[in-house]
Amino acid sequence: MPKTMKPETIAAQAGGVVDEATGAIVPAIHTATTFIRDPDNQYRRGFGYGRPDTPTVRQAEAVLQALEGADACLMFGSGMAAATSAFLALARPTHVVAPLVMYWALKKWLAEDARELGIEATFVDATSPEAIRAAVRRGQTRMVWIETPANPMWGVSDIAAVASIAHDAGALLGVDSTVATPVLTRPLALGADIVMHSATKYLNGHSDVLAGALAFARKDDVFEKAARMRTNLGAVLAPFEAALLIRGMRTLHVRVRHESASALMLARRLAQDPRIAEVLYPGLQSHAGHEVAARQMQGGFGGMLSVRVEGGEAAAIRTAANVKIWKRATSLGGVESLLEHRASVEGPGTPCPADLLRLSVGLEDPGDLLLDLEQALG
Ligand code: PLP
Repeated sequence: MPKTMKPETIAAQAGGVVDEATGAIVPAIHTATTFIRDPDNQYRRGFGYGRPDTPTVRQAEAVLQALEGADACLMFGSGMAAATSAFLALARPTHVVAPLVMYWALKKWLAEDARELGIEATFVDATSPEAIRAAVRRGQTRMVWIETPANPMWGVSDIAAVASIAHDAGALLGVDSTVATPVLTRPLALGADIVMHSATKYLNGHSDVLAGALAFARKDDVFEKAARMRTNLGAVLAPFEAALLIRGMRTLHVRVRHESASALMLARRLAQDPRIAEVLYPGLQSHAGHEVAARQMQGGFGGMLSVRVEGGEAAAIRTAANVKIWKRATSLGGVESLLEHRASVEGPGTPCPADLLRLSVGLEDPGDLLLDLEQALG
């Protein structure tokens, strides 16, 4: 494909590949777990066995690699497999810096399980570059990890500022860009070294695939180690999932832009509602991260917002119980709008306020979504 193509074109055409054997414009799903060796004992076509890699997974990787402007991309069986692999690929023992408020399961793994694997994590307010600067240890910190916007309060980290702090200390910057997606933010262009996605969310977009991705600025040691680990731990994505993901990414741009516009409308309207104590959305000028978000997010602020309901936890849970169109379910980034009482998911010790509902805005008519929330608030 021509080098000058825009991301929309790459995504819509799934990388532009036409099947040589049949002329099919949709990539084939290669289910084979094993591949023929050449007579001289080589694997010149690049595939030997399904655990390291398959053609369908490689096609999904090629699309995301282009969208992120990466040098390499690896797809995993889930976002958690991708994220934990990024940490485990570091030379250990190591110190890492991560956000106080971030995707809770990864934080829990870093806090509870990573230490015995040689990873010591310090958690800081990652919306403050100064806090990150104070936490990095030159020569010991091998990775600074941020998530932006970050679950579930949508705090925004300044990727370029944090990249420079990480690099000054000799560390890499890893960014969980699940919520921003490559449509709105390209962290590698802002100085990040690794971008991680729960591809379960916006990249696939239809709540029917579990997948994860790492996109690398360089094919360096960390990339090589992550690829080896994916093979040895058997964490690779399966071909059917890869095919669904390729299909999902074809509509990524229209979905994310539509969902971002609907989320902004909802955030503005809900901010006027006396039954809502606070709306958390980086697209609102009242949000602490708005200025940085406006600088580093292009074309929207994403489809995720949270509301704090007047009346506390009971009122929030009651509101969730009353919705008719929104689906009361965890996860995010699908075509159907989801809402959840987030503190119930994260459990004791969560920084998530008890009165908070997390909203993932889908492709429904935004007026329908607003009316449903208004009636649910009672
Ligand atoms: N990162 C973020 C921001 C997420 O929301 C999630 C899942 O909810 C993950 C990582 C983990 O991804 P997965 O559930 O695909 O393992």
